[in-house]
Amino acid sequence: MDLFEKCRQFTRANETKAMGLYPYFHAIEENEGPVVRIGGRTVIMAGSNNYLGLTADPRVKEAARKAIDKYGTGCSGSRYLTGTLDLHVELEKRLAAFFGKEDCLLYSTGYQTAQGIIPTLVQRGEYVVSDKDNHACIVAGNLMAAGANALVNGEAKTIVRYKHNDMNHLESVISKLPVEAGKLIVSDGIFSTSGEIVNLPEMVRIARKYNARILVDDAHAVGVIGKGGRGTASHYGLEKETDMTMGTFSKTFASLGGFVVGDSVVIDYLKHQAPALIFSASPTPSSVAAALAALDILEKEPERIDRLMKNARKMRTGLAHMGYRVGEHDSAVVPVIIGDTEKVLRMWRGLFDAGLFVNAFIRPGVPPGMEMLRTSYMATHEDEHLDKALEIFRNVGKSLGVIT
Ligand code: PMP
Repeated sequence: MDLFEKCRQFTRANETKAMGLYPYFHAIEENEGPVVRIGGRTVIMAGSNNYLGLTADPRVKEAARKAIDKYGTGCSGSRYLTGTLDLHVELEKRLAAFFGKEDCLLYSTGYQTAQGIIPTLVQRGEYVVSDKDNHACIVAGNLMAAGANALVNGEAKTIVRYKHNDMNHLESVISKLPVEAGKLIVSDGIFSTSGEIVNLPEMVRIARKYNARILVDDAHAVGVIGKGGRGTASHYGLEKETDMTMGTFSKTFASLGGFVVGDSVVIDYLKHQAPALIFSASPTPSSVAAALAALDILEKEPERIDRLMKNARKMRTGLAHMGYRVGEHDSAVVPVIIGDTEKVLRMWRGLFDAGLFVNAFIRPGVPPGMEMLRTSYMATHEDEHLDKALEIFRNVGKSLGVIT
């Protein structure tokens, strides 16, 4: 059969488009942060991860412009060879200091960061112990580690998964692994779909008992929780016990790129051994400069975090009050669980038509019964935006019979 036959057979997206319910790839024509322009209409954005609203901040934009003037538009090489700028080194130093770790390494995306760490560290006879609900980039990193080890070993018993945020199950699976083998426990800090925070204190206890290292993906936690937005380890006061924290510049840092902080001996190893770093071009000058400017603002204006959390709490409470089933975790992500694909798509369309953009998460991206509208908030949402968003949720939910 022709390789492309599966593409011709794939009709789901076109069917959804024909029904007028397609929620993806809508082009944004202008973006001020809390308000965007799509199809010539002004829409309130409640689906972005621009948590501190810094993509539209004049200081961040100016830093990006200046970097283009000084260094040009791209680095045209990997960090390893011709792609290291003084800006990359500066951002690495600043992030290491921010997180209180010895060293830091930048990657070109957060997705690539997981692939730069996991398969590089977890080698033959070693194990990655991973939460079942971890982000796709961790899953991909795990599979790469397993694939590489299978090529060498002829078997792929590298990945061990435990039930979502279930530390009893984590202990039960890790206790069955060879005591002397190297082990990496990896988890999202704040889970991207539910907004739930990992049970790091228990994880740390288990890691110590069973001789494992910890990697936390703080993509949704930096700038959101912890002291001054320092993420999950800081939230629990477990900075020293958390071996590595990775993150992205595509959310709080208003840019594009990824990073990992940890011991300098580990960072140095990754720097010289990770194919995802060595064989891929470094983040562009404007991306790095924007992230640096965003970090400056995060350090100088921690009140933005309070505003972000206040906004998310207002929405969580308001939506729950109307009768929606919402995630109860105190983060910037507020999932509205609808539990049915067609209802999610109809709700999405109704909200969009009324001037509100949220994200539709349906199967296979979420388990059955968890089909949802994932909403997320920014420090720069004003009360008028949120009041309007709540009013739209009320009207659309009632008209579709999702709430009474
Ligand atoms: N980790 C998590 C938990 C994420 O949610 C994301 C992005 N959605 C990433 C990593 C990937 O980051 P990036 O967008 O920089 O590739």
